[in-house]
Amino acid sequence: MKKKIIIIGSGFSALAAACYLAKEGNSVSIYEKNNTTGGRCRQLIKDGFTFDIGPSWYWMPDIFDKFFADFNKKTSDYYQLDKLNPAYKIFFSDDSITIGDSMDKICVEFERIEKGSSKHLRKFISEAQKNYNIAINKIVLRPGVSPLELITPETAIRVNQFFTTISKQVRKKFKNPKLIATLEFPVLFLGAKPNKTPSFYNFMNYADFGLGTWHPKGGMYEIIKAMTSLAKELGVTINTNANVEKIRVQHKKAIGITVNNENIDADVVLSGADYHHSESLLDVEHRQYSEAYWDKKTFAPSSLLFYVGFDKKLDNIEHHNLFFDTDFEKHAEEIYDTPKWPKDPLFYVNFPSITDNSMAPKGCETGFFLIPIATDLKDTPELRTSYFNLIIKRFQEKTKQNVENSIIFKESFCVNDFKEQYNSYKGNAYGMANTLLQTAFLRPKLKSKKVENLYFTGQLTVPGPGVPPALISGKLASELIIKNSNT
Ligand SMILES: Cc1cc2nc3c(=O)[nH]c(=O)nc-3n(C[C@H](O)[C@H](O)[C@H](O)COP(=O)(O)OP(=O)(O)OC[C@H]3O[C@@H](n4cnc5c(N)ncnc54)[C@H](O)[C@@H]3O)c2cc1C
Repeated sequence: MKKKIIIIGSGFSALAAACYLAKEGNSVSIYEKNNTTGGRCRQLIKDGFTFDIGPSWYWMPDIFDKFFADFNKKTSDYYQLDKLNPAYKIFFSDDSITIGDSMDKICVEFERIEKGSSKHLRKFISEAQKNYNIAINKIVLRPGVSPLELITPETAIRVNQFFTTISKQVRKKFKNPKLIATLEFPVLFLGAKPNKTPSFYNFMNYADFGLGTWHPKGGMYEIIKAMTSLAKELGVTINTNANVEKIRVQHKKAIGITVNNENIDADVVLSGADYHHSESLLDVEHRQYSEAYWDKKTFAPSSLLFYVGFDKKLDNIEHHNLFFDTDFEKHAEEIYDTPKWPKDPLFYVNFPSITDNSMAPKGCETGFFLIPIATDLKDTPELRTSYFNLIIKRFQEKTKQNVENSIIFKESFCVNDFKEQYNSYKGNAYGMANTLLQTAFLRPKLKSKKVENLYFTGQLTVPGPGVPPALISGKLASELIIKNSNT
């Protein structure tokens, strides 16, 4: 029997789930509190400049391809995808490293920094590729219900990789701190420190060097536009400016929601909002996880972001730029161990207008600056300004140019905005980290243990943070709903 299904939120996971559930003939309605779909992936358009508000790295193109293929579509039906060359540039205190779009180019760069390192790199990436195939084609496609899901013939022979860390693995073969930092960078997407991330996750290095960095023309929001249009083609109803106030429960079954003071009934409720917030929409006795449970978890960082319009083209930069010219360990400590505003932060800047002239007026540059910070920090306009001044100074020194006088406008986004705009737990930017004890069946569950017909999806449940995992999370949640509806 086809069901009436309500989905809370419209991030990648919610949109993905909506498409799969509608394809099965269910009647699906999305309720999103903000005025557009997309969740953390929204767009700011100002004075001819286009900014992605959240994600900017398009990694793992195979996962996007698979998603659209499930609906007999291709990404090219909706957006143009270009592989970036170089993929990105890393600025260190005395040098920079440029990551090209092929292993051959990257090997030349590694040899320049450390003689003999390219041989180790090829071996490392070939191992990472094997892990990628196991992780992406097998493990992440399981719903995180049982520890047995992690046990396959392939993982059994790699069990040691779950008990050693990516930091240790990288340091065994590479000595130069710049190469170590380069190889530790991809796992930062998983939200934890490399010395807390199992080495099995080196599959992120294959995603980086093997699969490359891509750019959808027009920006990441093009993916949201594509998914929103696919969802509509499949018959999904999308309600924006619809803040869900309550998940209604009767006799331990979800029976609908309250939105803008109106009760709406459903057979199934799926929440793609932050898991902690979703449970706060239930009466206390229906919640699975206590405040103490959430408080003990390692969350991915929050961020201080600036969206800056420049009235000229800038020099010595690429589409993606990492400023690793200060002490990574110190900054990581200030994010995870003793949360405080960082003294000398690393930061990231993207200029999509370098490769895509649709994103800025002619002769101008669109700049997105991001400083990762601990969650729940005090967020004031004065702090934001002081950090902008700090990083713009360093940016000018490293790229050897004056840009301050070329700023037409700047907007910022930080902890308070994450809380207010997304109901984000402690203002996290990208969910709950993937550490050994927060992997697979150890993450908050897709299906409520206390309330029938209530499900969760998104970056706080399985498989974890990031756009590709969010697509997979939506698929996993929809599969559980479909399976349970048929039994
Ligand atoms: C600054 C930043 C940079 C990032 N960079 C990258 C990157 O480069 N590459 C990458 O792969 N990933 C990146 N990520 C992570 C990625 O964006 C997220 O993991 C992903 O978008 C999360 O999707 P989601 O479906 O879990 O939920 P979200 O996008 O958080 O969507 C949840 C939705 O629920 C809505 N909602 C909340 N409460 C309610 C309510 N009561 N009623 C109705 N609706 C509600 C929210 O408004 C929101 O729209 C980045 C994230 C941020 C913030």
